Amino acid sequence: MARRRSFGGYEEERFENEVDSTLLCPICRNVLKDAVQCPNEHYCCRSCIGKHLHENSETCPTCQHHLTEETLSKPPRLLTNMLQNLKIRCDHAQRGCRELIKLEFLDRHVKRCGHVAIHQHVVQTLAVLKLSTNTRKNDMRMNFVVSV
Ligand SMILES: [Zn+2]
Ligand SMILES: [Zn+2]
Ligand SMILES: [Zn+2]
Repeated sequence: MARRRSFGGYEEERFENEVDSTLLCPICRNVLKDAVQCPNEHYCCRSCIGKHLHENSETCPTCQHHLTEETLSKPPRLLTNMLQNLKIRCDHAQRGCRELIKLEFLDRHVKRCGHVAIHQHVVQTLAVLKLSTNTRKNDMRMNFVVSV
């Protein structure tokens, strides 16, 4: 059920309009989340580059410039603004939320989104149902054993 990845950007198909390719992360190929840049102004999601530096090599994946967590810097205001103004569908779109939210306000919306509560309720109900189905199966098996 937990389909959300702990790292990587936002899936492009969640956005209202096509996203400019400068706003895509070269590592996860999604739209930049918490963007950082190398000294030559190549952008990545903070979580993606962190993982890359840690697991692959201490270089920028685009220009191979030597890079560490310390030499990463904040992207220009212009880029951040462009990102924040993109309209994205709510995390719970598949659970029926129809909101299109500016990226800037996404986290705030998701925290308050009424569709989370409904979803959790459904998960709990499903778990209970599953439990009772399993119990019934066991009962049937026992009956079977008894009748043989
Ligand atoms: Zn990324
Ligand atoms: Zn670079
Ligand atoms: Zn929502």
